[in-house]
Amino acid sequence: MIPEKVFHHILALGEGWRVQQVDYLDKESKVLIRVENTPALWVAERCPHCGRTGVQGYDHAPERRWRHLNVCQLQSEIVCRPPRGRCGACEKIYTVRAPWEGRSRGLTQEFEAFALTLMREMPVSKAGEILGETDTKLWRALFAHVDAAWSELSWENVVWVGADEMNRKKGHNYLTVFVDLQTKRVLLAVEGKDAGVWERFADELFSHNGHPKAITQIAIDMSPAYVRGVRENFANATVVYDKFHVVSQVARAVEEVRRKEVRVDATAREHLEKTCWLWRKNPESWTEKEGRRWEQLSDKPLVTGLAYAMRLELQKAYASGSAAVARTRLVNWCRWVKTEAAEMTSGLLAPMRQAAEMVERHLEGILGHWQRGLTTAFLEGLNSLFSATKRKARGYRSTEYQTAMLYFVAGKLEIPYYG
Ligand SMILES: [Zn+2]
Repeated sequence: MIPEKVFHHILALGEGWRVQQVDYLDKESKVLIRVENTPALWVAERCPHCGRTGVQGYDHAPERRWRHLNVCQLQSEIVCRPPRGRCGACEKIYTVRAPWEGRSRGLTQEFEAFALTLMREMPVSKAGEILGETDTKLWRALFAHVDAAWSELSWENVVWVGADEMNRKKGHNYLTVFVDLQTKRVLLAVEGKDAGVWERFADELFSHNGHPKAITQIAIDMSPAYVRGVRENFANATVVYDKFHVVSQVARAVEEVRRKEVRVDATAREHLEKTCWLWRKNPESWTEKEGRRWEQLSDKPLVTGLAYAMRLELQKAYASGSAAVARTRLVNWCRWVKTEAAEMTSGLLAPMRQAAEMVERHLEGILGHWQRGLTTAFLEGLNSLFSATKRKARGYRSTEYQTAMLYFVAGKLEIPYYG
């Protein structure tokens, strides 16, 4: 079989196209597959404007190239002057879309599908190195794919929603990420962290066959802006403050206590030196060294130690079997923390008192954890998802890139299959 025929088969061109010539460019280690249309193309061709047959060849557009899968480890490109047709019915002239054309310019469908598969597994820059393509071209393919697949998603059955912030650190643009807690997928990422992001989410629900009134439960942190956004846009939803956010807010209070204590008390400063990580973890995740450190510290009169014990006690409340038991334990916890804080004249426990007041204020939503049987473990996993997203989008920090990558890795979009 001569090469032209072989490539005709490989590219599955059908009758409307033929491989005119295959050139091997020694210097660039590249194969150029020159393709042209045959008269048979016009037999089946339908006008994109009126849908009728009877299109005739008019002329050819300038030459274009499409990167294709490698052939025997050589880069290959399809080269073609796309034909222009003239419709006999509506008389419009248009350029025929090549059957191999991908969603982004200059890449074939097969190459795009392969590139997307690589980008699922590794940072875009790394995929670019392997494929010998620029980041820009690969990102363009990713954007084209994500845009198309994401806009077709149906959110018809979405009823349990969670939201969290990505890029909490200063100097980054905040992103609020909405997730479907049942199918465990990212639905939407919106710039900002104010109440307005909830309006955006409500709007997007309409465009995806969903409805704000269908949302019955929403898991969020206790930020007043989020609470307001939910109230204003999701009348049927019960707010649930998930365990992860409650515990991490209390953990942050412990951290504040430690910082204050180090500042005001020289003896405490000596004891607390380099123990930052100890207080952030649960005892079961301590290293052996950290465990020994804790034993040394346990008989010292440290306010940080007391604050830490308070946090562990709150976590224990989450082991309660029912909402009724949990309510009692949480109410008792708040009372205990506030009493201790009031008795401590140094004021060091103030952050813990504030945390207790926050728990009191949001008690009903916190108890939703038991009443609704809502598992928000997926929300807790979001932080590692966010890091994975940033790793893959390394070097591209704008929200546009991060959003596309989020949808790509966690939106459960299909990689298109070109059969
Ligand atoms: Zn027409």
